[in-house]
Amino acid sequence: MENTDFPAIAEKLSKPLQILITTHTNPDGDAIGSSLALSTYLKKRGHTVHVMAPDLFPDFLAWMPGHEDILFFSVHREECEKVIARADMIIAADYNNFSRLNDAAPMVRQSTAVKVLIDHHLFASDEFDLKISISKISSTSELVYNFIEAMGDLHLLDKAIGECIYTGIITDTGSLSYSCNYVRTYLIVAELIRLGVDGEHLHRLIYDTYSESRLRLLGYSISDQLVVLPDLHTAFITLSKEDLLKFNHQIGDTEGVVNYALSIKDINLAALFMERDGIVKVSFRSKGDFSVDVLAREHFNGGGHRNAAGANCHTTLEETVAKFREILPSYLSKLKSVYS
Ligand code: 5GP
Ligand code: MN
Repeated sequence: MENTDFPAIAEKLSKPLQILITTHTNPDGDAIGSSLALSTYLKKRGHTVHVMAPDLFPDFLAWMPGHEDILFFSVHREECEKVIARADMIIAADYNNFSRLNDAAPMVRQSTAVKVLIDHHLFASDEFDLKISISKISSTSELVYNFIEAMGDLHLLDKAIGECIYTGIITDTGSLSYSCNYVRTYLIVAELIRLGVDGEHLHRLIYDTYSESRLRLLGYSISDQLVVLPDLHTAFITLSKEDLLKFNHQIGDTEGVVNYALSIKDINLAALFMERDGIVKVSFRSKGDFSVDVLAREHFNGGGHRNAAGANCHTTLEETVAKFREILPSYLSKLKSVYS
């Protein structure tokens, strides 16, 4: 699925604009990486740029160049409202439906600014004026690299932009282990290293900064909370709000936990159900052809990619898990043969 209104976007950017870059709730490495890379680049082009996220990002991203300037709608509401009102252009980076802006969505939707999508998720909504939407790409950060190249501006790439793009690619591909079987991703990574990005150092900053309680929460999730259903090729983990409290849960602490459930041989579908902020946040992961985007969309009002998707459910933890278990048999034939 491709949609590239590149020439029209280039035309709009030919004069200085007030630009607001927005990204999705629970921002991850690609959300923050692509937004900050775009922001630094567009500032170099002479635009006035702000970055806004609905809520806070995990601590392991708090070294990223430019992160101090990000506005959070949940914290800096008044300032966010001002920058939304002032914007000539609003960019949606790493998400494709304004509903993922939570409380900021109504105001952004009402804005008369030109709305631009730069994203790699499936099924973009039709609320954007211009789109660069390519789902067969590792990350929105990789798309930002392509965007800068298409603008003829690769000479503006610097180490800071490179570190942001690198972080987005690495975090969205599990350190180049999925969604990255394309030569181009590796060529771009090589180019970023050439620019001075220190891959080893960034890997340590992102992955080797666990708190003791985060590591113990991971251990508990696997040893006590993992349910394996071999006949259904499925494994899942549930974490209640009491569990999270017990392990002093901080934003980002459960990032990656669901992948351990998927690492079991012949398990092709994994889920993590987490009771957080009065809702149940679900993460789905799959192998091969089994689409968790379809499953999340059909049953949980969520979405994402074929092999990584999510949803927010307004049912209890028990009800959400019960629904999941109930629908699994209908997917049995697909779950059996994911590598067709
Ligand atoms: P995660 O499980 O890491 O939170 O999210 C996996 C993928 O699904 C990400 O690409 C994320 O943007 C997407 N995703 C997560 N939650 C939701 C949701 O509630 N709705 C939609 N449409 N996508 C989601
Ligand atoms: Mn992404």
